[in-house]
Amino acid sequence: MNASILFLGSGGARFVVARQLRASGGMWMRFGATQIHVDPGPGALLRALSHVPPCNPRELDAIVLSHKHLDHSGDVNVLIEAMTSGGFRRRGAVLAPLDAFEDGAVVLPYARRFVERVEMLEPESGPYRIGEIELFTSMRHVHAVQTHGLHLRYEGIRVAYLPCGRYFEGLAADYAQHHPDVLVINVLRYGDSMNVDHFTWPDARRVVAEVRPKVAIFQHFGTKMLEADPPRLAAELEDELGLRAIAAYDGLALDLGTEVTAAAAG
Ligand SMILES: [Zn+2]
Ligand SMILES: [Zn+2]
Repeated sequence: MNASILFLGSGGARFVVARQLRASGGMWMRFGATQIHVDPGPGALLRALSHVPPCNPRELDAIVLSHKHLDHSGDVNVLIEAMTSGGFRRRGAVLAPLDAFEDGAVVLPYARRFVERVEMLEPESGPYRIGEIELFTSMRHVHAVQTHGLHLRYEGIRVAYLPCGRYFEGLAADYAQHHPDVLVINVLRYGDSMNVDHFTWPDARRVVAEVRPKVAIFQHFGTKMLEADPPRLAAELEDELGLRAIAAYDGLALDLGTEVTAAAAG
């Protein structure tokens, strides 16, 4: 099976992104011949092109936004232009919540005309088809703008992406019902020093324990999370729960078939 995620960034939170302590390029995913870019934050295009070997935006089938905040969408327009050869070749899709297109749109109206298909994602809906992938959305997250998680199915593998938002009762169960093999979680905060709409590390642990993916991947780290040493935290969780836990870093490329097989063997 050919399924992989390349992390073009692993940073989150305004401070980390503004200083680029970690990059904010989002995730480049490949499922067979289908390629999608999820949450292209600032620097996404540069990170994609400068990766070795480079990712080619002209081969992208879709750009998908979990929500419109800048750290997830900063490069969406430049990527649309790259995907469509500057708008001269109408192709590809953009999938994002409705508010990414309306009232303070982050997808600019002129760039939107370059793509073949625009899908305004609703919560708990799908399948939306992108090439060989089926995409479903999670329930709506508690976040300042319309935000949902993504559930991707390709052949025998299920990948879930839990983006930014506040932990609440019922969220883990919503993800668990999709039975993801791989769960990517944005964990911005280490502890609860401020009351904000973002996961803390204890929230992430709780969700992983309830969803029980074969492989859990953490990313979108804020300053305090970085100070707390994500690889160490992932290793602890791996021992505690007996599953595979990985702290993403900029440029990390994961072959999902290999990871899921290794988790099953471990
Ligand atoms: Zn956000
Ligand atoms: Zn974010």
